[in-house]
Amino acid sequence: MHPFWHGALDLLYPPRCEACGGLRREVMCAECLGAVERVRPPLCEVCGEPFDPSAQSAPTCADCRGRRRPFSVARSAAYYQGPLIDAIGRFKYQCQMVLWRPLGELMVEALCSGAANGLAPESIEVVCPVPLHESRLRERGFDQSELIAEVVADSIGRPLRPFLARTRPTLPQVGLPVQSRAANVRGAFQARLQEVVEDKRVLLIDDLFTTGATLAECARVLRRAGAAEVRAFTLARALPRWRRVRSTAE
Ligand SMILES: [Zn+2]
Ligand SMILES: [Zn+2]
Repeated sequence: MHPFWHGALDLLYPPRCEACGGLRREVMCAECLGAVERVRPPLCEVCGEPFDPSAQSAPTCADCRGRRRPFSVARSAAYYQGPLIDAIGRFKYQCQMVLWRPLGELMVEALCSGAANGLAPESIEVVCPVPLHESRLRERGFDQSELIAEVVADSIGRPLRPFLARTRPTLPQVGLPVQSRAANVRGAFQARLQEVVEDKRVLLIDDLFTTGATLAECARVLRRAGAAEVRAFTLARALPRWRRVRSTAE
């Protein structure tokens, strides 16, 4: 398009930050990106649950102790709060596809800065997104996890492979009580491309980690299909319990 028309379009529809709605040239303005709270250690070395830095803690959390998880590690780039709630909401439910790049880049930043420690991206062989059900995909027109997984796959130079299919629609995990979440996703995924996943170290990507039930179910299916190892990585993560208690007390 001729720059003149760009200018004219900007006057008619001034570009806005998709997180705060402010008049900005970037998809997400620098203030909003800066206000996204990155997940920092100390973390549970398995599931990535952030520990209270003021408390003495063991290497793993109570949930991971004495229990084998189907993924070897899980990590997240940022907390699901502040401008990230708005950005993810617009990305998923208002179909603001332009957000896939800045959101994917938040994950790349966590990989490169070592904040998502334990993922060891250099030894990952393939990247696989947690899939949407076909009916949801048709309604939304794109798969948000696949878009952010593409940014991550590009950044580490590994292929993106859709190893999984969602075989039935599931309820959004966010609205469900914790004890119903595993049942909601049980048996909801199936491996495709089984021969390709065999003996591979897979990086499994999703947008949100709440209890980890979806990631665990997907990792179980991938392991059953022969994956050597599954490491899970999400864009965002629910605030840990000790943070929620603190913020309601304030
Ligand atoms: Zn903004
Ligand atoms: Zn843990």
